[in-house]
Amino acid sequence: MDIKVITKSDLIKYIALALAMILLISTVVLGVKNNNKNEEIEKLNSQLASGEQLLSEKQSEKDALEEEKNNLDKSYKDKLNNQKDENESIIDELNKKIDELNKKLSSKKSSKETTTKKPTKEPTMPTPVSSIGKTVYLTFDDGPSQYTPEILDILDKYGVKATFFVVNGKYNHVMKDIVDRGHQIGLHCYKHVYSEVYASDEAYFKDLKKISDVVKKQTGVETKIIRFPGGGSNTISKKYSKGIMTRLTKSVVEKGYSYFDWNCSNGDADGANTVVKQVINCSQFPRGEKKIVVLMHDNKEITMKSLPKIIEYYKACGMEFGVLTESTEFTNHRVFN
Ligand SMILES: [Zn+2]
Repeated sequence: MDIKVITKSDLIKYIALALAMILLISTVVLGVKNNNKNEEIEKLNSQLASGEQLLSEKQSEKDALEEEKNNLDKSYKDKLNNQKDENESIIDELNKKIDELNKKLSSKKSSKETTTKKPTKEPTMPTPVSSIGKTVYLTFDDGPSQYTPEILDILDKYGVKATFFVVNGKYNHVMKDIVDRGHQIGLHCYKHVYSEVYASDEAYFKDLKKISDVVKKQTGVETKIIRFPGGGSNTISKKYSKGIMTRLTKSVVEKGYSYFDWNCSNGDADGANTVVKQVINCSQFPRGEKKIVVLMHDNKEITMKSLPKIIEYYKACGMEFGVLTESTEFTNHRVFN
């Protein structure tokens, strides 16, 4: 066999060739690799770009929403403000109306006051309610007084008889006139002081005897008709003697007296300035009663002045006028002490 001897220069050649080959191959490989890398980079870049685009889209969506929200907030606030303004103007209007009404009310009040100051002399008459077959008993307490003579004249003028529950005083001499003119005289009390009259049962009967003596002396009449000071239902006596009215309402009857309360009051004792109206109001027989016993006071000027109208009213109703006697049946007040 032919053995070729490899020289040193050949060896160098081969090595150089081999290195060149390696260089070439590695260049090719690196180039391919590089290519691949570039592709990847491009791919990533395009992904990044689309990501950025998405981000900016989302950002603009967010901005749009933000703007919308602001707009909504603003319009909502505007709406609220408008509503508030509207409400305030309504409140203003209402306040103005209230002021106007208050002015009207106060002017009505003052005109009413000026008109109600006059008419006590000329009270208006309500429409009479037919009460035929029913009896009214006019009763006068706490007199005689300076007004009693004129009251007697008025009663005469209308041909009406009444009942007078008298007290002791400086017009005692009028008691005779009362009796002489055909009226009934009854006993009220000698001294109209609750703390003394109702101090005890004995005190009451002592007082009753004294006024009885005065009436007998003045008129010659021994009357058994009485009216308790404050009426049988009074509670003021409780301050001076507990249970005294429960005892007295029985014991006066046992002693032969007849006592009378009332079921209608002209209000003169309370200083009412519409006594006629008051009397008519309480004369409507609310419980189907056939008798009206009217409480009045002949020591009050208003009673004297209103009496004609009251009498005219009862006459217009077709009622009879009666005087209280021992046999008059009447339901007295409930006793509270
Ligand atoms: Zn009295």
